[in-house]
Amino acid sequence: AQAALFQSQKMEAVGQLTGGVAHDFNNLLTVIVNSLDLLTRNTRDARDMRLIESAQRAAERGSKLTQQLLAFSRRQPLQPALHNPNTLIGGFEAILRRACGERVKLKLALAPRVRSISVDAPQFEAALLNLIVNARDAMPDGGMLTITTGNATIGENEGVSAELSPGPYVSIAVEDTGSGMAPEVVERVFEPFFTTKEVGKGTGLGLSQVYGFVTQSGGHVKVDSTPDRGTTITMLLPAQDNGEEPVQDEDRTEHPGRD
Ligand code: ADP
Repeated sequence: AQAALFQSQKMEAVGQLTGGVAHDFNNLLTVIVNSLDLLTRNTRDARDMRLIESAQRAAERGSKLTQQLLAFSRRQPLQPALHNPNTLIGGFEAILRRACGERVKLKLALAPRVRSISVDAPQFEAALLNLIVNARDAMPDGGMLTITTGNATIGENEGVSAELSPGPYVSIAVEDTGSGMAPEVVERVFEPFFTTKEVGKGTGLGLSQVYGFVTQSGGHVKVDSTPDRGTTITMLLPAQDNGEEPVQDEDRTEHPGRD
């Protein structure tokens, strides 16, 4: 529990720091993007136009990165609503399949009567996509990627994490048959900017987003990995009902626009 507490304090500090930087950075990017838009309107020269476009692409990438950072650092307000996780995953399946590519086989093992969760749907999808992309990257020669949902109960004294209160949870696990990770990698996976991927391929922000999303939703992320065998990353999210009531997925009216 001490180690978990230390980890969460460290993430909190890193989150505050990156959040502040990302916020200011985002404002500057807006100025750059707006100026470039104005320039495209007045530019006739093809070479200048190409330069402007490449600057626009770089600014867009910067903007995506800062979005991920803001999501991680709690500066991005979440808009939680009740969702059935199976329905969320089902609605997102086509995109997940495309992300897997041709060599990786995606299997959905969705438990019947899985309970509902209160989450920000776009953040949930972003987290799932981050997990899928990592799993795919860990299987360059192909393999099996399985998404499993299920109900879980955390008892008193189970000590999964310092902040996790006992009660009903929903587990969403992403399992791959890929490279796995050495223990010293597992220890650092949630750190922002920690990546073992080539420059330009990884940002080191994927699992930071997952960590931010899950802890802000009152849950916990678990990593089980065996080198050369594969990895399972499990998101535990607090369950909101007993799984028997039909839940309206589209109803987000109680949560008016982001500020
Ligand atoms: P990125 O994917 O941009 O590197 P992440 O935060 O998503 O950033 O992941 C950090 C690192 O964790 C990866 O570079 C990789 O070394 C490791 N990792 C994450 N998921 C897996 C996985 N499923 N299998 C093997 N290694 C993984």
